[in-house]
Amino acid sequence: MSGEMVKQTIQIYARVKPLARRQQAGIYSVGEDEKSASSLEIIVPRDLADGFVNNKRESYKFKFQKIFDQEAKQDAVFESIAKPVAECALAGYNGTIFAYGQTGSGKTFTITGGAERYSDRGIIPRTLSYIFQQLEKDSSKVYTTHVSYLEIYNECGYDLLDPRHEASRLEDLPKVTIMEDPDQNIHLKNLSLQQATNEEEALNLLFLGDTNRMIAETPMNQASTRSHCIFTIHISSKEPGSATIRRSKLHLVDLAGSERVAKTGVGGQLLTEAKYINLSLHYLEQVIIALAEKHRSHIPYRNSMMTSVLRDSLGGNCMTTMIATLSLDKRNIDESISTCRFAQRVALIKNEAVLNEEIDPRLMIIQLKKVIQELKDELAMVTGEQRTEELTQEELLQLEEIIKTFLEDPDPESMLDVGADMRKIKHCFNYIKQLINRTNIPDRHLLSPDITGGEDTNTPEKKEELKKLRDLLHQRDNEINILVSMLKKEKKKAQDALFQLNTGSSGLAVSESSLSISLEEGQRPSACVNVKDTQDFSSSVHRSAFLPRRTDHLKGEITQRHMQRAALGVASPSEELNESDPVEERLRAQIEEEKKSYKTMFNRLKGLKIEIEHLQLLMEKAKVKLQKDFEVWWSEEASNLQDQQEKLPVSNSASALRASPQSLESQQHLYANSFSDTSRVNPSEDRGRKNNLSRLSNSTSNTRLGEQVNFLLHSNTPFVNEEIWTIQKSLLFPHLLSLRTRNNSPLWVCSLTEKK
Ligand code: ADP
Ligand code: MG
Repeated sequence: MSGEMVKQTIQIYARVKPLARRQQAGIYSVGEDEKSASSLEIIVPRDLADGFVNNKRESYKFKFQKIFDQEAKQDAVFESIAKPVAECALAGYNGTIFAYGQTGSGKTFTITGGAERYSDRGIIPRTLSYIFQQLEKDSSKVYTTHVSYLEIYNECGYDLLDPRHEASRLEDLPKVTIMEDPDQNIHLKNLSLQQATNEEEALNLLFLGDTNRMIAETPMNQASTRSHCIFTIHISSKEPGSATIRRSKLHLVDLAGSERVAKTGVGGQLLTEAKYINLSLHYLEQVIIALAEKHRSHIPYRNSMMTSVLRDSLGGNCMTTMIATLSLDKRNIDESISTCRFAQRVALIKNEAVLNEEIDPRLMIIQLKKVIQELKDELAMVTGEQRTEELTQEELLQLEEIIKTFLEDPDPESMLDVGADMRKIKHCFNYIKQLINRTNIPDRHLLSPDITGGEDTNTPEKKEELKKLRDLLHQRDNEINILVSMLKKEKKKAQDALFQLNTGSSGLAVSESSLSISLEEGQRPSACVNVKDTQDFSSSVHRSAFLPRRTDHLKGEITQRHMQRAALGVASPSEELNESDPVEERLRAQIEEEKKSYKTMFNRLKGLKIEIEHLQLLMEKAKVKLQKDFEVWWSEEASNLQDQQEKLPVSNSASALRASPQSLESQQHLYANSFSDTSRVNPSEDRGRKNNLSRLSNSTSNTRLGEQVNFLLHSNTPFVNEEIWTIQKSLLFPHLLSLRTRNNSPLWVCSLTEKK
């Protein structure tokens, strides 16, 4: 870790959601207090002052870094809030942006975006776009980006980037668990990190996660308001040739709805503090209170998964930003005040973001090897000799000679000087050590065999072998020579062929004019490019496909021009040919122009492509949402009818069914339905089942159908309990309804046709 550290309190921003049509406006004002802060004043209406907010005050004032009022647009929010954090993440610091507020206050709209317009896209897609733009610009480093998307519901983590796409419940997604290592670092087991090499891939992952998030939601778990979603961009960067890697994480967090339930005492007079519906938000508040207290050593991060995952973001190594989303209509004033109060506490938390640098040992070894080689080279230059790893035979013999002389020299002042060469010094010590050891052993051979090189090369067998090896070497050398010359020949042939091909094709294009052309005439109409028409978008889109071909053509003309001038030079050497050729320059300028317009066109098309893809993904999402909404509507309809049925004073549901037709006959019949298909109806069904189906087929209104299906679903016949799974409205054919069994095969399909 490097010493570079940034100390910063958590930055807080507020965003006020536009009022919905029938909402009654609350009274508030936004003021620009000082240079770098804004304040929000909320007036508590009189009828609420003695109610939920247990305080006599009528107005509350809160400070924020900046307040985005109702008309603020997504791009402005991104520029002020997310861009600085993204920049830090690119530089190697961790960042977190989290949205906090009650359900419906605009958290998801701010973090992910709205589905209606491209301009409604939120912080995540804009940040991805920005990051990839910056990466493209910066060629000084090698970057890698990964994303992960985690949903925490009921203290369980789920991986939203599960590519299988078949999850129909949250429980079907891979479960993510928390692991803590001995250094108390948090690791998320089972959360997939998906690499994204460009904006498109990252957006696809985001939409995959959002779709999984939506599909997994049922009216029962209300995942979107009760769960926390954490989209994380992991960036690592490295300068080429360097061993240090920078890694950063950017969390973009959509928290659960912060609404609380009021505990009201007898007669509404005794008021205690309102409690969070979501327990983990309660723990988040505990963490924040603990952090705000000075000298508190224990911070209760471990109480919930969300606070564990976001531990670094809260008082740790991270630059953190909070967006308080407010729905400032009259009915939500109390919740808005709670949100603002929470934000004020958050603003006290100090974070210490450090530059996340680490050294890759593999890269370090490579780097050190390089340094060693450089030093060796330098040494060789200074000493004037190339040093090898080992001393040569000759050097060894020389050394031994010096040692011998030294040992035999009676002069006590004599010195053993082998020069400043560690190899030689080492060898001297070794050699002397051997000599000392050997004085005890019967005197054999003073010079050890390994010093002289050992093997006796003078025996006839050895000589024979040496000769054989030499011959072999010679033979191999010859073979290599032959192969090299063959290779050269082949290469030349290939080059010739290529040259012929080139001259052949370009010659074809210019043959007509090249012979008769006069040099003064210069620019031919075919080379004249109308640059103006780049303004016209549609024509230029069409053109852009041909641009590379055009530049090729221009290049061909330049080559031709060169040839002509060369020919002219041969024909009349007196002509001054050294000065620059205006025609050629014009052609070059045209090429530049072409390149430029091609590039702008390319960028425009690229932008357009991203926009189209975004819209396609939005459409896909809308489709899923439609299906989802229908299911919600359907189940609501069914449960309403069940409630009605339960109210009827009858002993069993069958008689309820019998009783209901009269009551419904009076209703306006909007639809008549008929069963087009009664597949899988088994002839051996019991009578009750047939009865139910025939009743079903006779029903005459849409609501009627709902009621009857509902009857089937809730009656206790085995048929219903065992087999029926869902009732679906076909997305492609909205007038078809199908009843599906548990294993998803259609039990029947009915069509709803309008009756005039
Ligand atoms: P939350 O995620 O906090 O529950 P949403 O983001 O789902 O709330 O917002 C609720 C509704 O209000 C959505 O339909 C959303 O499109 C709309 N909305 C929220 N904020 C804005 C805004 N700033 N401008 C326009 N519509 C908004
Ligand atoms: Mg939401």
